[in-house]
Amino acid sequence: MTTVVDDILQRVFDACRGESSGAVADYIPELAEVSPDGFGISLATSDGYLYEIGDTRTPFTIQSISKPFTYGLALADNGEDAVARKIDIEPSGEPFNEISLDPVTERPRNPMINAGAITSASLIHGQTAEERFERIRQSYSLYAGRQLEFNDAVYRSEAKTGNRNRAIGYMLRSFDIVENDPDAAVDLYFRQCSIDVTAADLAMMAATMANNGVNPRTGLRALSPVLVERVLSVMTTCGMYDGAGDWVAKVGLPAKSGVGGGVLAVLPGQMGIAVYSPRLDSHGNSVRGVAACRRLSRKLELHFLHVPRASASAVRGRYTVAEAPSRKRRSEIEQDALARFGHRARVYELHGDLLFSGAETAVREIGTLDEDLDALVLDVRGVDDVSDIARSMFDDLSTQLGKKGCHAAFVDPRGVLGHATSSIDPNDPGGRVFADLGSGVRWAEERVLDRYCVGPRQPMAISAGEHPVFAGLTPEQYARASAVTEIRHYARGETIVHAGDHAAGLFLVLIGEVSSTYEAPGGFRHRISTLSPGMSFGEMPLLAGTTFLLDFCADTDLTVAVISVADFESLTVDAPEVKLGLLSNLASGAYMQMNIAIKSLGQFGIGR
Ligand code: GLN
Repeated sequence: MTTVVDDILQRVFDACRGESSGAVADYIPELAEVSPDGFGISLATSDGYLYEIGDTRTPFTIQSISKPFTYGLALADNGEDAVARKIDIEPSGEPFNEISLDPVTERPRNPMINAGAITSASLIHGQTAEERFERIRQSYSLYAGRQLEFNDAVYRSEAKTGNRNRAIGYMLRSFDIVENDPDAAVDLYFRQCSIDVTAADLAMMAATMANNGVNPRTGLRALSPVLVERVLSVMTTCGMYDGAGDWVAKVGLPAKSGVGGGVLAVLPGQMGIAVYSPRLDSHGNSVRGVAACRRLSRKLELHFLHVPRASASAVRGRYTVAEAPSRKRRSEIEQDALARFGHRARVYELHGDLLFSGAETAVREIGTLDEDLDALVLDVRGVDDVSDIARSMFDDLSTQLGKKGCHAAFVDPRGVLGHATSSIDPNDPGGRVFADLGSGVRWAEERVLDRYCVGPRQPMAISAGEHPVFAGLTPEQYARASAVTEIRHYARGETIVHAGDHAAGLFLVLIGEVSSTYEAPGGFRHRISTLSPGMSFGEMPLLAGTTFLLDFCADTDLTVAVISVADFESLTVDAPEVKLGLLSNLASGAYMQMNIAIKSLGQFGIGR
């Protein structure tokens, strides 16, 4: 299947194919031997997919495209400061082979011109010349994801004719920028320039930089993210030599060219591009390489300063617990309190990557609410990545809110905000982390009810006699019912009935809480509703003959009173008036729950 990307590559390829200006480099005799018409374009995504067209498997020497990679290795070997004392990072505006140093700092102006590159080579660690070269070759191979080979013929050719670079080496030695044998540094540089690559290799090397220094196919790290950033910065300002300004304006990607005919460009976080075409312009940049990069950048909108839209808010949803209550069944008094004061507990659902601007808009919105809050729930399940600055902004927000008496909790099963998840502990008012939204909303409701619910709260424990299902029974009828009632205890986490089970009896919750849940395909357990003392379950399979649709699991240590299926049946004959009492209590309880459910739909504007 050809994709839009393939089509665009084809069109860019066709548009540039006819361009035959420029000339192959001939100051290195061996380079003059290559076919001038070779042309290939590769694009590697930062997850390692490769698009290719044309001569993307033709080997050619990497030449100056080696410079950023050796600079990266020099940084890793010596540290940024030590390297900075040897090589500046200012654009030179001079040809790549200029024999000059910055007149003020007396250092090479940047690592992308030969003076800087030879200095980088002189900084590579290793006991012997072979070891130093081998470390360079291995480093490039890590970026490419395969073993790259050395081209001896091109190396010899350059070594024979490279007197200008030797002049640069000796100049560097005389200024003590190169501190050891300048011939050795220049020789190492010639060798690194003579490593063979293809356009496909270069695209993967670029994609490795785009992927923060890890080759997306092998998963192996070639360079640390901090150093990748540093190398890309220098490529942005200095990668295309004296054509750098024009390049940034028209292409807008950190890039590097080489006289072997390659151009490599990186869009951080997204992709790497490489073009091979050996005819060079007066700067020593591939003519069709530059032309193809310009077109690709425009068509694929790759310019790194191109902003399609201002960054969107990280807030995906915002609501109060009055608008979207938890699925915990509540008494009417509690329902009323939540309807009246639920606006003081809010849920914010955040999504996307939380970088500075997304976090800033969210934190500002929450921090400047007119309303004072008692509870805030931040649901970050939809958040992918969180930057350190965003994390500290949210920490600060919860501290600030805490001072005003508002407790903040996070729904953060993956711990993206860096807090540990904690289990449900109704006594702990602040700094909570929940694995699911329902638990977070319930927690927020409890905060509101603690403050504003005047009147009896749903108790945490009742005796069997207090259970509403027995309401209105005479003492004799109750005695008859309780004779068939068995008290059972379950440990927290225990499953009482499983989805698919047949009628298992009528379960009356006396102490603790139990939730109906189901396990999603990924293994995550979703909570459908939570029952507390005074509520019951199991009546549907019992009365309607269906199987259980959900699992019922004890959230806390749990005590229930159970009337078995057989006992419930036998009441029909043995004590019909008792059964009638139980059934009418069950029916009115069911209608009350339905009423509450309808009311909560009304809060979403449904059913009005
Ligand atoms: N080896 C070449 C040189 O130093 C590399 C130059 C380049 O690719 N721009 O002359």
